[in-house]
Amino acid sequence: MNERSRIVNILREKEYFTLVGHILPDGDSIGSLLALGEALSNLGKQVKIYLPGIVPRKYMFLRGSEKFLTEGMELSPGTVAIAVDCSDLERLGPFSETIKQARCLLNIDHHITNQHYGTENLIDTKAAATGEIIFHLLADLEIPLTDSIAEALYVAVSTDTGSFKYDNTTPETHRIAADLLEYNVHPGVLSQRIFDERPLSYYLLLREALSSLELLCDSRIAVITISKEMLKRSGTTVEEIDGMINYTRDIEGVELGIMFYVESSEEVKIGFRSKTIDVSALAQKMNGGGHPRAAGCRVNAPYLAVKEKVIQEAEILLKKPCVRFSEAAWTGS
Ligand code: 5GP
Ligand code: MN
Repeated sequence: MNERSRIVNILREKEYFTLVGHILPDGDSIGSLLALGEALSNLGKQVKIYLPGIVPRKYMFLRGSEKFLTEGMELSPGTVAIAVDCSDLERLGPFSETIKQARCLLNIDHHITNQHYGTENLIDTKAAATGEIIFHLLADLEIPLTDSIAEALYVAVSTDTGSFKYDNTTPETHRIAADLLEYNVHPGVLSQRIFDERPLSYYLLLREALSSLELLCDSRIAVITISKEMLKRSGTTVEEIDGMINYTRDIEGVELGIMFYVESSEEVKIGFRSKTIDVSALAQKMNGGGHPRAAGCRVNAPYLAVKEKVIQEAEILLKKPCVRFSEAAWTGS
């Protein structure tokens, strides 16, 4: 029996499930958790969903998003734990220690850097979003979709493909989206909410972030830096800055976009976006991960030291000839 059939059997046969997503939750993680959670509940299962972070405001309209648990995880021996859209256990933040102890841990993900930490691992790196994998699992389980499951999956797939615009978008992605649109799902309303409309605080931060823009390595690298003080001044939070990094890569001639978020004098979060090179390898060198064209990591060291090291690594990478990916590559988060 292959891993997928084993996972389908576990989902069908067991009764208690604890689902968990990743830190700085994004549309794929939130949408996939809500869809799988509702589907299992509709089968009469007992389901708890934990999120190690705050739901960004733009996803709060999703049904069930107000019910995420953020602390107090306990796993009884018969409970099946499911990590969704998490490439490694560290991404589970405060829940990683408890999840590590799970007797049965399903790891459902699409990151190329996934560490296969589950007792069962369903990793499909061709899937544009974990939401695509969940869609197929629900079909295998013959669980009928509801409007809210369809909406959650549409949010998962549309966000991780940057609104069906990145190279990870496949014919299958569009087939899934077409099926989801048969339900009460409104793409115009959703994209307005998720992609277009941002709070004023986001633009106030963007103004400052763009003032920090630096072009390096013959203008092939663009860097922006955000500090905690900048977040405070603009009235925004780190959960809300998703997407700001894309301004770096979108500059004509820039190959690699980097965004530093200086959390403290000893901790820096780094985001990478590229047009053609594999930034997942770059992130992995610094204990992070992600996709070929969108990756990230966290480093415990002062900003300037981190920056010097990152730029050095990036320059080494850029001196190599830039090759286009032949298989579905990635640009979202
Ligand atoms: P973002 O830059 O939007 O935070 O993340 C882009 C991609 O990189 C996402 O797919 C995310 O999973 C991955 N990523 C970001 N930060 C980290 C990290 O610290 N560790 C790992 N393993 N992946 C990360
Ligand atoms: Mn994802």
